[in-house]
Amino acid sequence: MHRRTAMLGAASAALALPTLLRSDPALAQAPAPAPSPGTPGFFRFRLGSFTVTTLFDGFFQRPAAGFIRNAEATDVERVLRESFLSPDPLRIPYSVTMVQTGQHTVLFDVGTGGQLAPTGGWMFANMRAAGVTPEQVTLIVHSHFHADHISGLTTRENQVVFPNAEIAVPEPEWRFWTDEGQASRAPEAMRPAFAGVARRFGPYGNRIRQFAPGTEVVAGIRSIAAHGHTPGHTVFEVTDGNQGLLVLGDTTNRPELFARNPGWHAIFDMDPQAAEANRRALLDRAATDRLAVTGYHFPFPIAGRIARDGQGYRFVAADWIDGI
Ligand SMILES: [Zn+2]
Repeated sequence: MHRRTAMLGAASAALALPTLLRSDPALAQAPAPAPSPGTPGFFRFRLGSFTVTTLFDGFFQRPAAGFIRNAEATDVERVLRESFLSPDPLRIPYSVTMVQTGQHTVLFDVGTGGQLAPTGGWMFANMRAAGVTPEQVTLIVHSHFHADHISGLTTRENQVVFPNAEIAVPEPEWRFWTDEGQASRAPEAMRPAFAGVARRFGPYGNRIRQFAPGTEVVAGIRSIAAHGHTPGHTVFEVTDGNQGLLVLGDTTNRPELFARNPGWHAIFDMDPQAAEANRRALLDRAATDRLAVTGYHFPFPIAGRIARDGQGYRFVAADWIDGI
């Protein structure tokens, strides 16, 4: 029988945060996000001999209006209401999936580092509550380079936060965001994203390794090309024994919207058609194979499964007691 632990509320982690920040030289430089007593912490389950822990990083808020390119506001509001979500503000969670393989302690993306929204950056406190320090992370695997996925790599002063980690990045994503031609042709609004990539990855120097989507990153973690959200957006299949987990990154934003309506296009999708095709293919596969999934913008506990539902799909959260 697998031992599974769920920790909800994480009031203890929230209360302990100021002490943790003081005692960690890297985190001491990060701003202290205001913890909320109701903030979920981490959720842990077994995958074969691996341990998977989802780490809640916080959320940002925006109005639902203008978030989806190709849906009527009334349809979006109806779907949100059916999921008990507010259209204004619409709350969009951030989360990181951590996998301990025995060989490696792996993070999939790194959260916001408390540098994007005042209601974010809690991943570090939740990781510590789960018994892991930034020094123990040996590998960081990136799905793509949007700021909410990479800002936790460095402090506000741009110091390295993970001193012992190798950084694995999808080759097409790296190529796009480090191409000076792309940066110079990009619309004004995208310029900060290019600068952010240079800033966050720069301090890691030669510890950055590019991988071709479709190849194995390390034993048990295979990458799957899923471009569209960004030019090199990549998802990951984690396998041990006969158990599999899809780390879906930004295949969907909130599943209540985009699993339910895979044809809806979030404003962040750079190539909406490609993003939709990959979203449909991955959701279909997750549902058919009954795979465990995590998604970066999924609601806590972040892990669960994908079920078919009408013309779309539905995220079924992992059970608190039994995990998945
Ligand atoms: Zn994202």
